[in-house]
Amino acid sequence: MSKHIETLAIHAGQEPEVITGAVMTPIFQSSTYAQEGVGKHKGYEYSRTGNPTRTALEANLAALEGAEYGLAFASGMAATDAVLRMLSPGDHILAGNDVYGGTFRLFDKEFKRYGLVFSYVNTSNPDQVESGLRETTKIVWLETPTNPLLNITDLVKVVEILQSASNPPLLVVDNTFATPYLQRPIELGADVVVHSTTKYLGGHSDVIGGAVVTQSEEIYTRLAFLQNAVGAVPGPLDCFLVLRGLKTLPVRMDRHASNAEAIANYLAAHPLVDKVYYPFHISHPHREIAMTQMLNGGGMVSFVMKEGAKAAKRVAEGTVLFTLAESLGGVESLIEIPAVMTHASVSGSSLEVDPGLVRLSVGLEHVDDLLEDLENAFQGSN
Ligand SMILES: *Cc1c(COP(=O)(O)O)cnc(C)c1O
Repeated sequence: MSKHIETLAIHAGQEPEVITGAVMTPIFQSSTYAQEGVGKHKGYEYSRTGNPTRTALEANLAALEGAEYGLAFASGMAATDAVLRMLSPGDHILAGNDVYGGTFRLFDKEFKRYGLVFSYVNTSNPDQVESGLRETTKIVWLETPTNPLLNITDLVKVVEILQSASNPPLLVVDNTFATPYLQRPIELGADVVVHSTTKYLGGHSDVIGGAVVTQSEEIYTRLAFLQNAVGAVPGPLDCFLVLRGLKTLPVRMDRHASNAEAIANYLAAHPLVDKVYYPFHISHPHREIAMTQMLNGGGMVSFVMKEGAKAAKRVAEGTVLFTLAESLGGVESLIEIPAVMTHASVSGSSLEVDPGLVRLSVGLEHVDDLLEDLENAFQGSN
């Protein structure tokens, strides 16, 4: 069955429940399952290993990424942790130099202690990926667009480079910012996609969750083992909330993007703004690549204030509709200062960001109200 993503988002992995006909997948809030005889069961034994609400979510996520296998985790970081656990001491990971701050923290503060070896390059420049590869490289880990600078990596180029390596490493793409509605890395040759479902997939700022999707049975089997062995699984209510969010992903992403595009254009023309970062904006250095591998520019916009950190703080504290908060991808607009909020954990490292940078997660409010809120914050008149 090859259906459009709008249809898959609503139906994949889900059938009316057999006993009652309930159209929405029930929240199977049960830790264990009655067995008909010893070892004779209906596919579920214990909810760390498997839970029907989670199964529906996992099948849906796989379908949206155009892949065979999905696994849901308790958070995006738990999903990342599971992927890294496939490796052994001495293995090298080549990572993007502006990955999510929490990802860098997990790599640098935890997995390094266990003997994994990390190096960081600007993956937007494929030459740096090529020259960063080592004999021991097992994973190339990247985000596109990145957080918070919205840099774009040419996935097809990187796949080409990795496939011509003597011992091709796995390409892992954190697809949180783009979502499968905008970009499907596995269809472009990536081996593994990682998500924080906390963000656009859940979409309503009411749940923490993560996911891993792959086309490889071998990787899936290893990760399913880790999911059960480590146990960082999402509860059934959390799975339900993400599943519910996914149903409207395509319509939400279209509106996130049209609002974000209007805001990027407004900011680019604003006298107090030095620079705007938005993948589909005319000023973006990787705009052409973005336009070939993404359906639209997404809902994230970052910008630098001409007057630096103080001015950035004034704007971030001066909006009313844009809530000053970490996270992203919900229906409501958020504003934050990465240097002191989401990216505080990379301060002092090579991943440190400009203190005058402001990041917006553009929500689904009316764009005129959002533009007015920003203008009032710029004028200091909110
Ligand atoms: C939020 C985020 C994560 C971590 O996900 P959690 O659900 O917060 O654990 C990983 N990658 C990206 C790009 C993120 O935005």
